Amino acid sequence: MALIVQKYGGSSVSDAEAMKRVAKRICDTRHAGHNVVVVVSAMGDTTDDLLDLAGQLTEEAPQREMDMLLSAGERISMSLLAMAINQMGVPAVSYTGAQAGVLTDSHFGKAQITGMVPERVARSIREGQVAIVAGFQGVSSDDDVTTLGRGGSDTTAVALAAALHADVCEIYTDVDGLYTADPRIVPTARRVRRLRQEETLELAAHGAKILHLRAVEFARRYNVPLHVRSSFSDKDGTWIANSDAHPELVGLVPDAALKTLEEDQVEAPVISGIAHDRSQDKITIVGIADAPGMAARLFQIVAAAGANIDMIVQNIPTSGTGRANISFTLPGADAQRTIAAIEAAKDELDYQDLRYSPGVGILSLVGAGMRTNPGVSAKLFGSLSEAGINIDMITTSEIRISVVTKLEDLDRAVRAVHSAFGLDATESEAVVYGGTGR
Ligand code: ASP
Ligand code: MG
Repeated sequence: MALIVQKYGGSSVSDAEAMKRVAKRICDTRHAGHNVVVVVSAMGDTTDDLLDLAGQLTEEAPQREMDMLLSAGERISMSLLAMAINQMGVPAVSYTGAQAGVLTDSHFGKAQITGMVPERVARSIREGQVAIVAGFQGVSSDDDVTTLGRGGSDTTAVALAAALHADVCEIYTDVDGLYTADPRIVPTARRVRRLRQEETLELAAHGAKILHLRAVEFARRYNVPLHVRSSFSDKDGTWIANSDAHPELVGLVPDAALKTLEEDQVEAPVISGIAHDRSQDKITIVGIADAPGMAARLFQIVAAAGANIDMIVQNIPTSGTGRANISFTLPGADAQRTIAAIEAAKDELDYQDLRYSPGVGILSLVGAGMRTNPGVSAKLFGSLSEAGINIDMITTSEIRISVVTKLEDLDRAVRAVHSAFGLDATESEAVVYGGTGR
């Protein structure tokens, strides 16, 4: 008997029919002899609809009220799902984030989990009940309801799985797992059967939307094996685990996947996947003094504005002016605030001009095998140049290369790189079952 945490996304519980299908899957898992804890997202586009509603009343909603509002979406789905499961003869009880012991700091809208005390959930397990937990929400030390940021139910699920020492955390979504690229852009993308946690982290951090970044961080820190799969089919999805989690997976992982786990210990694939990101803007500071401490000062100001910087490139003009240009990318949502902060410090930073390019494209190639395979960057740049796509900036990590392109070139870039690395499947295997892509 295993303890399985199952997380169902909004598209998997979008209406009563979908709810029944999910309830049936949960009951089947229970009847197979496993203990099940379920984390559920708000139905369909509920969260967006609630945001729209608030927007019709005010442009600046108090953040506390916003979190109170948004947390309601998951309460609706958790109680309905508990009803559907009870109707099928399996006892089920729903819990809010607070009841499930999800403790957070008090940053409304993007609260971080500070502790997990899922006592009531553990009691439900002991009593043979299926516990249904509202995703995406917690409670602060001031007893306020908080939310974990968009897509945060994944994080609830992985944190619960870690706290309960679950054998596996299954993330149910509307595609059959993670693909070598977004199947909406590359129809020939292949399903990835297995990924390491570090690769998943790089993909999630660079735009792959399938998993909440913090969920992957939790999975890595507490070594929780993840299985990302579709709630619309019985197909095996993508297993995310490191080799040392292998023994815990025995019995839960189908033989074929186990085989890839073993092969993986010998040799990691050179490229595991391509992520893309359309949400970033670029800022260039032209003619900043090329002196010690200037970059530090600039990025202190940027950090104080709350912007998370991804790529930074500095170049020194050859003309001997003693001045440099620094470009960086940042989330579009942070751009205006950051520009205002830099402009307010113009005298101190002593730069000549600030150039702002809204909307750049970023393509990231990820693979643990890059460490031992030279020539990946040459092939990447070669394929882009063949496709006539200009590269604006480049950054690398041990297992990732990212390039900035024009936004309108991004899809073409993803397709070109995908086929250059031989990732295309012969037949289209990606199936997108649901969701409005909102
Ligand atoms: N309902 C929330 C959202 O749409 C949380 C989640 O789906 O994970 O962002
Ligand atoms: Mg959602």
